[in-house]
Amino acid sequence: MELMDGKAIAKQLKEEIATEVAEMISNGHRPPHLAVILIGNNPASETYVNAKVKACKATGFESSLLQFPPEISQSTLLQTIDELNENEELDGFIIQLPLPKHIEEKIVIERVIPSKDVDGFHPINVGKMSLGLDSFISATPGGIVELLKRYKVETEGKHCVVLGRSNIVGAPMAMLMRRNTYPGNCTVTVAHSRTQNLKEICLQGDILIAAIGKPDFVTADMVKEGAVVVDVGINRVDDASRERGYRLTGDVDFNGVSPKCSFITPVPGGVGPMTIAYLLNNTMIAARKRM
Ligand code: NDP
Repeated sequence: MELMDGKAIAKQLKEEIATEVAEMISNGHRPPHLAVILIGNNPASETYVNAKVKACKATGFESSLLQFPPEISQSTLLQTIDELNENEELDGFIIQLPLPKHIEEKIVIERVIPSKDVDGFHPINVGKMSLGLDSFISATPGGIVELLKRYKVETEGKHCVVLGRSNIVGAPMAMLMRRNTYPGNCTVTVAHSRTQNLKEICLQGDILIAAIGKPDFVTADMVKEGAVVVDVGINRVDDASRERGYRLTGDVDFNGVSPKCSFITPVPGGVGPMTIAYLLNNTMIAARKRM
């Protein structure tokens, strides 16, 4: 079993980006600039946003954090998005999800100009990605593909089972794994909460990507011998032995499953850091286009 060390690969990717940023600046250009909109005080969202801002600093990006109270109106949020769309000093921006219930996610996502949609959630970017056209690939699936590439995981002709069909992880992940390129060229099955015979389906996966948000859901009896397992899940589980009162665990029972795998990602330290690095990668792509 080989561990796919997302933390180490994300560090590598960020170093490559930092080198390019330094070159950009020495050629007289301003550094890439990413803005993050954070609404409310969801602790997990705050943690992710802080990590994104910190990663910007570490790579020489400029970053702006726009924080709003949970009661912000949808119209004020849309107006802020319009301003960011027009701001020429900004290469890309994201709106940290989830949003408060009174704000319609779909409307917010569609308001972001596709050329600054570095989260890759806008329907134009999703549509282009599904057609294999140049687009922003959303950060989590993009980071996973990068991780598979850097570990030279064989994907061609393999059966890839994606557990979960959300717009931000499962659905784009499935599209990427069926692309006619590397990593890709898989035969893909997408499973979700209505899937029957889930265990039998998972057992067919040469590559199993779990993104359902259920701690330790995937157990050893659901995994094919020699499979590549990617654990996207980030779940907070109560743990009185930890100072903060909880620990993070994935969707995969790592201890049970890992002995059967050829490759596996840990949680934490797997997909999470790759997601952040890939967001910077997307912002870098946006910044290159203005030069
Ligand atoms: P969602 O809740 O949006 O989607 C979960 C998906 O899992 C749905 O498609 C759902 O099916 C399916 N599902 C739920 N229960 C089951 C079940 N018992 N059997 C089969 N399928 C099931 O979650 P996200 O996609 O946003 O996130 C998934 C996980 O990944 C979470 O733990 C999240 O925290 C984590 N995450 C991690 C990131 C990272 O950077 N590492 C980034 C984003 C997310 P249905 O569609 O039928 O409801």
